[in-house]
Amino acid sequence: MADIQPAGPQNLQPNPQQMRVTGLGTSAPCPKCGNTSTAPVGFTWWGGVLGPRIFHVVRCIGCGIQYNGKSGTSLGKPIAIYTGVALALGIAIAVMLGMAR
Ligand SMILES: [Zn+2]
Repeated sequence: MADIQPAGPQNLQPNPQQMRVTGLGTSAPCPKCGNTSTAPVGFTWWGGVLGPRIFHVVRCIGCGIQYNGKSGTSLGKPIAIYTGVALALGIAIAVMLGMAR
């Protein structure tokens, strides 16, 4: 049985800027394999439960890597920023606690 779709815009994605990360399959394409089927990530080693929410982290169903599902970019920079900020905050808090004593 031929499964031919009539010519039409049904399979075209809407304006990418209007796409929202609401769950399965609504992410930007994977930077590694181009797959758009993703699973939301609720926890990462580097960002706990907050990091993935800030950076829209999703996991590619195709190859398994984690990336930014909103911009379709890898997480190297966000991880560096997040861990850097967390480290700076930790040091700042440690210093403040030390001064308050
Ligand atoms: Zn992939």
